[in-house]
Amino acid sequence: MLKDFVSNAAILIATFSIMGVVLKDKPFKTNSPLSSKLYWGLCFGVLGNVLMSFSIQINSNTIADLRHLAIVIAATFGGYIPALIAAILIAAGRIILFGINESSLLGAIGAILTGIFCGAISNLNMARTLKAFLMNLIGLVFVSIIFIIRVENLQILKEVLMMHYLISLIGGFLAYHFFVFVINSYEAQNQLKHSLIKLKETEERFRLIAEYSSDMITMHNENTEYNYISPAVKEIIHFEYPELLGKKMEMFIHPDDISQTIEMFQKALEQGAANSTYRYRTKMGGFVWIESALKSVHFEEDGSKKVIIVSRNITERKITEQKLQEANELLNRLSYMDGLTGISNRRYFDETLLKEWSNSCSTHSPLTLIMFDIDYFKKYNDTYGHLNGDFCLQSISQAINNQINVNSNYTFCRYGGEEFALILPSTGIIEAEKMAKHIKGTIENLRIPHISSDIADIITLSIGIASVLPNNSVKPQELIQMADEALYLSKTKGRNTISVSHLSVEGL
Ligand code: GH3
Ligand code: MG
Ligand code: MG
Repeated sequence: MLKDFVSNAAILIATFSIMGVVLKDKPFKTNSPLSSKLYWGLCFGVLGNVLMSFSIQINSNTIADLRHLAIVIAATFGGYIPALIAAILIAAGRIILFGINESSLLGAIGAILTGIFCGAISNLNMARTLKAFLMNLIGLVFVSIIFIIRVENLQILKEVLMMHYLISLIGGFLAYHFFVFVINSYEAQNQLKHSLIKLKETEERFRLIAEYSSDMITMHNENTEYNYISPAVKEIIHFEYPELLGKKMEMFIHPDDISQTIEMFQKALEQGAANSTYRYRTKMGGFVWIESALKSVHFEEDGSKKVIIVSRNITERKITEQKLQEANELLNRLSYMDGLTGISNRRYFDETLLKEWSNSCSTHSPLTLIMFDIDYFKKYNDTYGHLNGDFCLQSISQAINNQINVNSNYTFCRYGGEEFALILPSTGIIEAEKMAKHIKGTIENLRIPHISSDIADIITLSIGIASVLPNNSVKPQELIQMADEALYLSKTKGRNTISVSHLSVEGL
């Protein structure tokens, strides 16, 4: 008997496994599609017929089989439809295999009734194991009825039923759990398959994004070596994939930008993200401006850290920025330049005087101002014309400008009209007077004819000098006023002369 029972158990395990493989794409649940239920019902019908053929010899005159378990399992997991299909196939098999006789008809009716009742139980709202147990009992009830009809000897009937119940309950328990195991393992396999498909799809999507992006996407190990390079690299720097792979990133960066870029790379590794703007070398030997966003990624499977860099060619933007900056610088320079003479203008004079004033306050050094005015310039214009007056202003400005050492901190400006000013920081009266005399002589040496001048036949200058030791109680305006007064003094003294503000001398 045990041998027969083991054979039946083996049939169940083998059939369940085969069913799992054959129907792996057809989930077996109460809510599965009808087609799946039909396939599974068919399989359980075949299983029932096999079990019927491999009956268990209980004793010398009694045999039993586990065919009803095929209906029980079909109903437990798939509900009414597979249970009925299995039941019909078992009933048909009983008649076909054993011929039309009372025993076959009883067996067939028992199978159909088992299918109907198990189907009904499958709809009850209770735990699956309990349903399976109830169905098994129902199946046994019909088997018992058949035995009661067929076996007349009460003693034999009792023994047969006891053995049948025992075998059926143990068989049912094993069959249920074998089937759960098979179903679960195929479901897990299906889930894994789906996850793998999804993973592949996601990977493919990201690959497409990386490969069709006009931005250059590269991945580097901790030593800055290229591990991945997107196709856009060819468009931006014209190198081919193998020419970069495994090489260090700094080989392709402008020498002046390497240290800054490596610093950003380290920052991304340590802090997770960084940005950098630098120049990349192109295959043709030139450079393109690149703006990069760097991000570090930790790969758990090998514990490595990588840096993903998304880079964009910003050369055109950089060129525009540079042009704009140059234009701004030019505009700035022009806003401080006198249009006629090309030397610094009044605006520059005002700002410089304030700046030097504050410097002198903090360094406690003297600040001197020299004001120059062309003598009888109105008459010059009247005699030689306004245009020649302009040339005269230009010649005088250039001549004085040339006398000022470019390395000195003196500032020479057109103060307004035919008046000029020279700011001399950290300079006292004596040195300033020397400078004034030198400039006066320079202009006289130009020998610009001025036949209408009342004091000479050439262009001459009247000069006023003032000097202070700036502090908070004096204002820059006072220095201008003092220099202006000194200049006025020169004019009243007869022009073509140098005067020094007496106040300033006392101040010093
Ligand atoms: P003084 O000796 O007292 O300084 O007599 P001046 O004629 O030089 O002084 P005034 O202030 O009477 O005249 C200044 C002249 O400078 C009048 C003006 O036409 C001339 N001037 C001012 N700016 C310019 C300029 O940009 N170009 C020319 N050509 N002349 C200018
Ligand atoms: Mg004047
Ligand atoms: Mg004048």
